[in-house]
Amino acid sequence: MNSKTLNRFLDDRIADLHKHGLYNEIDVVQGANGPVIMIDGQEKVNLSSNNYLGLATDERLKTAAKQAIDSHGVGAGAVRTINGTLDLHIQLEQKLAQFKGTEAAISYQSGFNCNMAAISAVMDNHDAILSDSLNHASIIDGCRLSRATIIRYEHSDIKDLRQKAKAAIESGAYNKIMVITDGVFSMDGDIAKLPEIADIAEEFDLITYVDDAHGSGVTGKGAGTVKQFGLEKRIDFQMGTLSKAIGVVGGYVAGKENLINWLKARSRPFLFSTAISPADALASTEALEILMNSTELNELLWENGNYLKVKLGNLGFNIGNSETPITPCIIGDEKQSQEFSKRLFEEGVYAKAIVFPTVPRGTGRVRNMPTAAHTKEMLDKAITVYEKVGKALGII
Ligand code: PMP
Repeated sequence: MNSKTLNRFLDDRIADLHKHGLYNEIDVVQGANGPVIMIDGQEKVNLSSNNYLGLATDERLKTAAKQAIDSHGVGAGAVRTINGTLDLHIQLEQKLAQFKGTEAAISYQSGFNCNMAAISAVMDNHDAILSDSLNHASIIDGCRLSRATIIRYEHSDIKDLRQKAKAAIESGAYNKIMVITDGVFSMDGDIAKLPEIADIAEEFDLITYVDDAHGSGVTGKGAGTVKQFGLEKRIDFQMGTLSKAIGVVGGYVAGKENLINWLKARSRPFLFSTAISPADALASTEALEILMNSTELNELLWENGNYLKVKLGNLGFNIGNSETPITPCIIGDEKQSQEFSKRLFEEGVYAKAIVFPTVPRGTGRVRNMPTAAHTKEMLDKAITVYEKVGKALGII
């Protein structure tokens, strides 16, 4: 039973979300989350997943997961420092380090968890963090948890970053200063200016942290944004997730051995929360093996991304400045974004509206995530529907 105060709070807030078109209904997907999904018994072309390479339903990963269940069971048992660590987690971490070109890596239960864990294990209330204004929510929460002073710089504005780094150093107020950025910004698809950021970090001796959740498997022929710029030796934290291009679940940091040893000794979700399951670990290792041995899926992803982008752009949609397969159709008004998404759905296309607080107010959009698993026929169907609905709503 809820208290009266809680009921009032919940009813008011939920009504408010509905009033402003900010309440996101969560759909039930019947069956696998592939390029075509079933919702309410109807097939939809799925342009909403982060399953960039189609690995979430790949037969090789499914086989690996089944093998791991047979050999290791379904759960890890307890936290790794108490119950011993599974060989499958160690194998995964070795593979991650190889994949990212670092000395070592540590895995966590999710990408979100990983940012909460890793930032707060290194930064504290005597420190400052320079954070891109469009960084992901998990970075923001990780920074808050650390109790460091958070200094936001304008999105990808190198001049602003440099000025703020200089001022922070000259203030003499902080023991350590970190600069933290997404590698690929998930709502717009643009890429962080990592070489310039690495230069500033070197000039002021900043700690560097790149969350490449949307870059790994996508940029750098699959190796990610840090490798794309050849910065493996100049970025301290290469953070990523196993839930997007890798197709499974979990998060990780790759870096120098002393950093990883510290995170294993002191990051709280590692110390107090059970690790990903054996099936998740072996399936992720298999995905990395595939990624490191072939660029075939990565090439297909980019081909599909470019195809969709050009077609939607030519129709007159505002697709922003994406440099990756992420293809936003920026509409602005939140309610119209929701309406657009709803009409796409009715016509057989699943592309969710993304509104505040996921993106800034007034920049509502429908974001399209083409993957390697889409066929041209699926994309053509989506494009036809986009044209019809876009014209009907006066968006194009
Ligand atoms: N960082 C970024 C940039 C993300 O987009 C996401 C997922 N939305 C995460 C971290 C969290 O990853 P996960 O879903 O594995 O928790």
